[in-house]
Amino acid sequence: MAVPEKAATRPGGRRRPGPARRPRPGEDRLRETTVRWLADRGVSLEDIGNIVLEIQAPFYDSLTLNECVESVNRVIDKREVQHAVITGIALDILAEQGKLPEPLQGTIIRDDSLFGIDEVLALSITNVYGSIGLTNFGYLDKVKLGVIARLNGRGPHCHTFLDDLVAGIAAAAAARIAHTRGHD
Ligand code: MG
Repeated sequence: MAVPEKAATRPGGRRRPGPARRPRPGEDRLRETTVRWLADRGVSLEDIGNIVLEIQAPFYDSLTLNECVESVNRVIDKREVQHAVITGIALDILAEQGKLPEPLQGTIIRDDSLFGIDEVLALSITNVYGSIGLTNFGYLDKVKLGVIARLNGRGPHCHTFLDDLVAGIAAAAAARIAHTRGHD
């Protein structure tokens, strides 16, 4: 029987010659998938940037939508953020298609208030930016600005995870601006 060759290393542990460099953000397929899935579910990076602008504009006079969208982009560069987003969106889609096992199927499709895993997943995004991210997330969870309000409303789609993921990304991007700008 043929012994399968090890994929990444030669005997002695040396790497095979070949493309070893990290992909740049633009070429990163997981990042592209994340942005595309968000768009397919009706959320653009500009939508999220608008929420960031609304949170932070009172504190920074010169803040622009471009800077907010840029901050959203830097948050989405992070691998743990990409994983959180695709996990949550996949669960939303499977619930919509009735493909999850019970009791998860009913819990997610009804967006049961005692099911807090959608918030926990989103907190894995804000955690990267410390307590400011956490405070912003708590605020967005209450006031549901911009596209979050639309996702939260009744419609044909299930956005149990997505509304929190968008709030998480916006909260993190807003915290990132606070950290990089400090007190203007
Ligand atoms: Mg939710």
